[in-house]
Amino acid sequence: MTFAATILTLYPEMFPGPLGQSLAGRALREGRWSLNTVQIRDFAADKHGSVDDKPAGGGAGMVLRADVVATALDSVSDGHPVLALTPRGPPLTQSRVKTLAAGPGVVLLCGRFEGFDERLFERRAIEEVSIGDYVLSGGEVAALVLLDACIRLLPGVMGAPASGVDESFETGLLEYPHYTRPVTWEGRTIPEVLRSGDHAKIVAWRHARSVEDTRLRRPDLWERHVGARVGSPSGARHRTDDET
Ligand code: SAH
Repeated sequence: MTFAATILTLYPEMFPGPLGQSLAGRALREGRWSLNTVQIRDFAADKHGSVDDKPAGGGAGMVLRADVVATALDSVSDGHPVLALTPRGPPLTQSRVKTLAAGPGVVLLCGRFEGFDERLFERRAIEEVSIGDYVLSGGEVAALVLLDACIRLLPGVMGAPASGVDESFETGLLEYPHYTRPVTWEGRTIPEVLRSGDHAKIVAWRHARSVEDTRLRRPDLWERHVGARVGSPSGARHRTDDET
């Protein structure tokens, strides 16, 4: 099955961009995902191709017109979930990415200027989504981020099927740290347990580091993780005493 990505943008030449390289690029050539870009400007009502206008109430910048964007969106209507990239949306999560990647595809709306006329979201079924608490100049890079996260989960895209399961956020925790050769580099040696060949010990060490690093680096994730476990038979208890 091909995951169909449709991008509505004022800059279609930005796609596939970096997604034409490496794993995503190969997957595109293999037909595991498809890309269709729609130039929003083609749906402008006037011959000047106007897509934006001054903000009602005054202020800096320009606003993308609801009528023009809606006409562009209505031209797609493939029934796939429609997401608008905007810093006003709830932050994108790995769990949302997983659900999207398991579906038939996405329609992505890329904003520019000050963003979209709000009435667009009142009149069309559009999910607003943010890629983080900072402001980009346009939705295209955010759309590339969302697509990259989806594409790597598509069947056959990642080399080893197991390499996705331990990943940061998959379990609600950050992943444990990685090491590779040389064994000693600038006086720092790979933790002994990872060289022990004792699989059970390695699993325990990795879990302990996952827990420890999440607690220290991302107390917000840790709180959510512990909260999610309350009421489960094992409760909120974690082993942290098995570290080396
Ligand atoms: N005035 C808006 C920002 C507009 S930035 C505000 O303050 O909320 C222009 C466009 O870039 C947005 O319409 C959106 O498509 C994109 N963009 C900027 N930051 C983003 C983010 N964190 N996540 C997703 N899209 C973003």
